Amino acid sequence: MRRRWLVTVLTVVALAAVGATGGVLAKLHYGGVRIVAAGRPAGPAPQPTSVPAPSRSPSPSPAPAVPLVAWHGPVEGMFFHPLILVPERAFTDDQLGHGFAHYFVTAHEFRAILDGLWRNGWTLVDAHRAAAGTVMVPVGRKPLVLSEDDVNYYDYFAGRALAKRLVLDPSGNVKAEYADASGIRLTDDDVVPLVDEEVARHPEFSAQGAKGVLAVTGYEGLFGEKDLTDPAARQRVRALVARLRATGWLIASHTYGHIDLSKDSLAAVARDTSRWLALTRDLIGPTDLLIYPFGARPSTAGRALLRDAGFRIQFDIDVTARRLAVDGVVVLSRRHIDGYAFAGQPRALAKFFDVAAVIDPDRPR
Ligand SMILES: [Zn+2]
Repeated sequence: MRRRWLVTVLTVVALAAVGATGGVLAKLHYGGVRIVAAGRPAGPAPQPTSVPAPSRSPSPSPAPAVPLVAWHGPVEGMFFHPLILVPERAFTDDQLGHGFAHYFVTAHEFRAILDGLWRNGWTLVDAHRAAAGTVMVPVGRKPLVLSEDDVNYYDYFAGRALAKRLVLDPSGNVKAEYADASGIRLTDDDVVPLVDEEVARHPEFSAQGAKGVLAVTGYEGLFGEKDLTDPAARQRVRALVARLRATGWLIASHTYGHIDLSKDSLAAVARDTSRWLALTRDLIGPTDLLIYPFGARPSTAGRALLRDAGFRIQFDIDVTARRLAVDGVVVLSRRHIDGYAFAGQPRALAKFFDVAAVIDPDRPR
């Protein structure tokens, strides 16, 4: 098992060095995380935009409306994993530490990335609109679909300075629960709270209230709640999901077992899909979004099976913004933002943020 993981990582490095396509890279690339987890079955600058007078709106609106225009053209996507709070505890010199360095970013980096995205004119948009080709953005800004994979807070995160779960604070805001030697506390240092804050600071960073897509597997619970036989945990998940949905977040399947849709049999995909739906039916409710684990694309038959289970919008991984409509499914691409991208794609990422300015001083080079 250890050797497989290492071979995967080395293969990825070799492919990256010869400029492999994003799809191939990602498929191998995210294999590393799966094996670690095994043991289970260029644009315009931002500009101020006037807010319409309240009298123009017949009904009261909680947030000032930002004038929007239709966007024609590809829509960029990018994804993250849960954030690392203390780099030296995650980026140790061992296989797991190398995995965190390659596939994850720190809270320090994510804050700087959000600032770069805002300054470079990007605005978060709804994945359904991206799939339908009906994206609207504030005048002069560019659309981006943000996603976060594996919002499960897996057991292998333990002791590595990532959050333990998502929770609601007494005001009903989504926070991350973090535990260390000094005890348990709530923090903003995770994707959802930091994006929520950025949008609150800069309403034009979100079009029509959109935030992003949160993808969850099922094999270790949901959002860090591990024991879903516990009625209190189930109630916490329901309340969390209600708040996420009300504040612009969408939930996606990431399959039940983080399976490889390019390799597993149709029967295995069908079984896995049934398990995800059974687990989430009463906790998350319906979703039409599915994010391929490892970015691994299913066969035509596999894609149709997932479509028939309700997943009409599917996401893979690529460094090129792409929207593919085929067989009643729309497949949207996403960039991986992580240590590999920082090392290998600084020029391609410059339109989003300056890698040199973003990179955590405590990230191993
Ligand atoms: Zn994943």
